[in-house]
Amino acid sequence: MAAERRITIVGGGLAGTLLATLLAQRGWNVDVFEQRDDPRLHGYAGGRSINLALAERGLHALRQAGLDDRVLAQAVMMRGRFVHPLEGTPHLQRYGRDDSEVIWSISRGELNITLIDAAERAGARIHFNRPLHDVDFAQRIATFGEGDQRETHAFTALVGADGAGSTLRARMAQVATLGERTEWLGHGYKELEIPPDPSGGFRIEPNALHIWPRGHYMCIALPNDERTFTVTLFMPLTGPHPSFETVPNGRAAHGFFSTEFPDTLPLIPDLEQDYDAHPVGKLATLYLDCWHLDDRAVLLGDAAHAMVPFHGQGMNCAFEDCVSLANHLDADCDLAVCFSAFEADRKPNAGAIQAMALENYIEMRDKVDDAAFLLQRELELALQARHPARFVPHYTMVTFMRIPYATALHRSELQRAILIDGTRGLSSLDGADWAALDARIMAELTPLAGLPAGEPA
Ligand SMILES: Cc1cc2nc3c(=O)[nH]c(=O)nc-3n(C[C@H](O)[C@H](O)[C@H](O)COP(=O)(O)OP(=O)(O)OC[C@H]3O[C@@H](n4cnc5c(N)ncnc54)[C@H](O)[C@@H]3O)c2cc1C
Repeated sequence: MAAERRITIVGGGLAGTLLATLLAQRGWNVDVFEQRDDPRLHGYAGGRSINLALAERGLHALRQAGLDDRVLAQAVMMRGRFVHPLEGTPHLQRYGRDDSEVIWSISRGELNITLIDAAERAGARIHFNRPLHDVDFAQRIATFGEGDQRETHAFTALVGADGAGSTLRARMAQVATLGERTEWLGHGYKELEIPPDPSGGFRIEPNALHIWPRGHYMCIALPNDERTFTVTLFMPLTGPHPSFETVPNGRAAHGFFSTEFPDTLPLIPDLEQDYDAHPVGKLATLYLDCWHLDDRAVLLGDAAHAMVPFHGQGMNCAFEDCVSLANHLDADCDLAVCFSAFEADRKPNAGAIQAMALENYIEMRDKVDDAAFLLQRELELALQARHPARFVPHYTMVTFMRIPYATALHRSELQRAILIDGTRGLSSLDGADWAALDARIMAELTPLAGLPAGEPA
């Protein structure tokens, strides 16, 4: 049993407050220190509507805290990608087979407030305006706050849920070797907004994640429950292709959008102002060899494994971390053993989703309107129908199931080779060699537990 069921969480963002809820519900004595102000008093930082895609992994974690219904009540269902080619007709590509396989667009601010309320209801103490400043690991004393607001806090163990720029990680690195490396993507993002139409409704199909794929760059748009869409433009930071260097301001953005995303211009009336007012965000993948410092500190969520956002899984993965850590902490072991077991459980899976998130950028910006990709997708669905337990589409494994990410990555690699070989030289599935495909699937892919077998005769 952990010596004292007492834990101090640094960061009251998405993961910090969910972990606080799960542990407080299980009787732990929980303090959370958050650098920002209480968003219930003065609104969420920045005041803009920023949304996130919630999928089964995150939903399952919220279910463990009894919060799934509350969160879904504020969410907008997204059935698939609504692809807007530069030329051609916009069309919906479903993510799953039917409405049981969908993802949900949720407001980051509303979700954080729901989680803060839940953590406090469960008995956790949340201290706002208290950024972590320093840690004396020998004495187990952390210092929070700035200037004359500074206060010390004696801790049993610290959990770093303080995001990609984690201060706790930096303090741990002063006393241990974490093996940290950050790989910058070289692409950034800027958020814009599609407001409601004059009658207060959505301006485009609400139940979809919209994508305008353009090869080296793209726009996406996710719906908000107040009938707006948050649009995100992703493109290189520098370089001669369109980049944030060649499109430096709102005026230039107007010209750029009129040639590259012409159908969005009437949808984003404040394009120029938004473009000038909103910062360019940078994207990176963070790798660490070690996530914990014996029984004194452990990292999770973005603090341990920040990733690029193209699979919409950063928060989902962070929420899986919370369930895993809460389960390990609740098991009969000391904190050093728990932290080590948690790291062994989650690190290979975080690495797998980091890799899949990087790959998915290329799929989203370049492949979703490509004929070869669409034929592979058609074959993927046909093979799933023939072998429901063995051939499960990549997106389904990551998004609608909770099999370990590492398993999803491994099977996706085998399946991709089958899809490429199976469609080579074909313009439709009429000429597919079904017998060879069936034989290869039977040989290479074991059935996944819990799915109906339904093999073809
Ligand atoms: C553009 C973009 C789109 C994304 N879309 C999705 C998506 O669709 N689906 C998805 O699952 N994920 C998405 N993500 C990823 C997701 O946002 C993160 O993975 C998630 O927020 C991680 O949660 P976290 O609690 O670990 O970190 P954060 O949410 O960053 O929370 C960290 C908290 O710690 C606080 N903090 C920081 N420093 C200190 C300090 N020194 N002391 C005290 N507190 C501190 C911060 O104020 C914050 O409240 C996206 C990310 C980006 C950038």
